[in-house]
Parts: sequence; C-alpha cells; structure tokens
Amino acid sequence: METKGTERSANEILRQIPSVDEWLGRDALRALEANWGHRGAVEATRRVLELLRARIACGAVKSFSLEQVEREIVEEAKRRAKFTLGAAVNATGVILHTNLGRSPLAREAIGHLVEVATHYSNLEYDLEAGRRGRRDAHTDPLLAELLGAERTLVVNNNAAAVFLTLNSLAEDGEVIVSRGELIEIGGSFRIPDICAKSGAKLREVGTTNRTRLPDYTGAITEHTRALLRVHPSNFCIVGFTERPPLAELVDLAHQRRLPLIEDLGSGCLLDLVPFGVAGEPVVGASLKAGVDVVTFSGDKLLGGPQAGLIIGRAEFLDPIRRNPLFRALRVDKLTIAALEATIRLYLSEEPDKIPGLRMIRLSAEQLKPRAATLATAIAARPGFSAVVEDGESVIGGGSTPGQSLQTKLVAVARRGVSPRELAASLRRNSPPIVARLDSDRLLLDLRTVFEEQDEQIVEAFKRLA
Ligand SMILES: *Cc1c(COP(=O)(O)O)cnc(C)c1O
Repeated sequence: METKGTERSANEILRQIPSVDEWLGRDALRALEANWGHRGAVEATRRVLELLRARIACGAVKSFSLEQVEREIVEEAKRRAKFTLGAAVNATGVILHTNLGRSPLAREAIGHLVEVATHYSNLEYDLEAGRRGRRDAHTDPLLAELLGAERTLVVNNNAAAVFLTLNSLAEDGEVIVSRGELIEIGGSFRIPDICAKSGAKLREVGTTNRTRLPDYTGAITEHTRALLRVHPSNFCIVGFTERPPLAELVDLAHQRRLPLIEDLGSGCLLDLVPFGVAGEPVVGASLKAGVDVVTFSGDKLLGGPQAGLIIGRAEFLDPIRRNPLFRALRVDKLTIAALEATIRLYLSEEPDKIPGLRMIRLSAEQLKPRAATLATAIAARPGFSAVVEDGESVIGGGSTPGQSLQTKLVAVARRGVSPRELAASLRRNSPPIVARLDSDRLLLDLRTVFEEQDEQIVEAFKRLA
C-alpha cells in the first residue's frame, strides 16, 4: 500500500495509517511482542505513529511505506528496551570521574555483592545469639583493625556523613571553620549550605589564604559545639598561605572539650607516596593525631561503593548513631557487601586489586606500548591520524588537587571532522567511549581504560571509518 502523489491532502494520508493493532498483526511485527512484551511493542508502535502523524500533518512527509514504518517500529522497540545506565569506556585519564561513576569496584567486591544480593543474608542478624544484630557489624571491626578507630558508621555518601555529624554534634550551636576551607565541590555540595541545613551555625574564621590558631581560639564561645576542618579537595591555595598544623587544632579542641571534626573527602586509607602521589592526607594519620570524627567517601580513593564513612571516637559516634536521621541515611546490603569486601583488600594488603589504585600506580612507561598499539590501529584507518605523546592524567574525586600523573596520550584527528564531532561519535559507540578534547585534537588516555577495553576502542574506530 505504497501511497504516492503529493496532491493528496494530509488528512487523506493520515487516514491510511493502520491502527496499532493492525501494525502488530502484520507478519514483520509478529515477533515484536514476543521479544519486547506487549507493552513494549504497543508503546514503540504508538511512538513511531505519533511522529509519523506529526510529520504528515506539518507537510514534511507526503507518503509512507509500510516496510519503512515497520523497520522504525522495530528500531524504536530495541531503543526503548536498552538500559539507559550502562558501562562506558573512560578514556579521559580522570581516575575518579564523578560523572562516570567514580571508582570501579574490585572483582572481589562484585563477587561478594552478587552472593549477598541474590540470597538472604545476616545483614542485621546476630548468628551467635540468634537474634537481631546491627548492620554496622560487618564493617566496624574491620576499620577498627585497619585504622585503629573506635567506631565506624556508614551512610549514603560523604555529604550525608558531614550533614549527620554536624546535626548530631552541633545543632543549635556553632561550628568553627576556616574561610580557606569553605569549599564547594561538584554536584552542589557546599560546606556553608550543608552546615545551615544541619542546624549548626557556621562561624567563619581567618581569611581565604591564611588562618592561624588564635583565629580559632578567639572564636570559641559558650555556643561553640565543634571545630571543623575540611580537605580543600579540588583546589589548592598556593603562595602566601597558612593553616594551623593538625596537632595544634587537636590540642585546642581538647583543651576546650570540643570535638574536632575533619571532612577528608577522598578517604585515602593508604599512604600514596609509594604510588608517586604526595600530600594526600591519610585517614589513619588523622585518627592517630587525635581528630575525634573523620568523614570521607567510599567511592573516591578508597575504591569502594558510594558511601559516606564516619569514623572516630565512640563518645561522639554513639550520639551520631542514635540520631533518628542515621536511619534515614543508612546504606543497603549491596553497599555493605561491596564495602566489606573492598576494606578486606586493604587488610590482606592487596590494594592493587582495587582498580583505581592500580590505575594510579601505572607508569607512563607501562602505558606506552598500549598507546602505541592503539595509535597504530587508528592511524591505519583511512582519513585518521594518531600519534602518541606525553601528557598528564589526574586522580580527581576531590583528591590531590594541583597534582597530576605522567601519562602517554593517543592524539587523534580525522580529516574533515572536528574533534568535537569525533568525540560525539565515540560517545554514540556501544559501549560509549568518553575521550578528552584538546583545541584541535581528540585525546585518549589509556590509564583509565581497562586493558580489555583497548580492543573496543579499536573496533569503534573501525566502525567510524
Ligand atoms: C567529595 C567530597 C564530599 C562529598 O562526598 P560525596 O561522597 O560525593 O557525598 C564532601 N567533602 C569533601 C571534602 C569532598 O572531597
């Protein structure tokens, strides 16, 4: 029933469109319901017909072929059934890329998570006593062993950890923070806003670049409930700067019988100096220095699932746990399973099994042969050029501000196509590939690409060519 003839009125063409049921009864679409279910088949057909009618009504389409519409319906059904959340290739060289899901989990964490998730578990069941237990029991003793912490609480993310801590310890009172630490990190986490929502009043001291101990001392009043120190995360202040050493803040807090809270952000459990990264504060060192409550993320440098860890002295952690908001911010069994397995990798001294830490450790020399192989494969495609050059990767995730890791980049150009367009076509690949953009080239940093994904990049360029 090919309809032709531009003279026909839109109404006449519209009347020729079969109904949804008629479409679904056609031979070519018989399999549609079996493959995608009745609802999927109907919705896909409706959507395609809706667009077709709109195009006919505005005169953009003067005829349609049944076969073409059938193909469009099949494509639409496939598109609708595809997951919107899926794996992607991170070729940006940003290891803890918040938009790309931060830290990939270790295989051990995934294995444990699958085991726990697909069965019943002793999540909140004390097997010794045969009665209700606490979900904290799975991570608390491990972090006590690893870091010497008296208590650990796990909540949804570090933003929740900071919020809950301030709400529990400083509601209706004041919390003192240096002006140099009133940070904003991505996703609209701002220390002043979180503080306000927690019910604690922010008492700013010092200046953006210099804050000294007497600034804190002078601000303490009967209303003060805590001192807060914040890791500057994604920026650094260089030059004429000053910040009191942690030990002095600890002394001051304890002399005044106030808790010192530290938001460490990235949750580094290991000294990264042997990994070639200096200056990233370590959770254990803060606890040892006497900080009362430390908060950090589970999915930044720690390398686990999204979570916020609150760790420190029982005297302060116990009231935090009793806060009814703790119940509202608690994590589920999947998070606990993945977190427990990840922390155990630190205890068994196998941090290389954590993908993010392994990526940090890769040297430019180690990346070079992979980059060379990829560049050769891309340059072999007509219209493409690709060279290996020196560059830098960053850890990201609000850690190690101002630092970078030496890497080897594959710089790609395609004749007649802008780097922006090239990047867009790589993002449309399956799996999507996210690259870095330079002014006139596209850059691929293999540090953040899993080795088995190198081939997927090669395949993507084959298809593009
Ligand atoms: C990342 C970060 C946060 C927020 O952590 P989320 O886990 O993303 O909620 C808070 N404070 C600092 C210093 C951070 O770096």
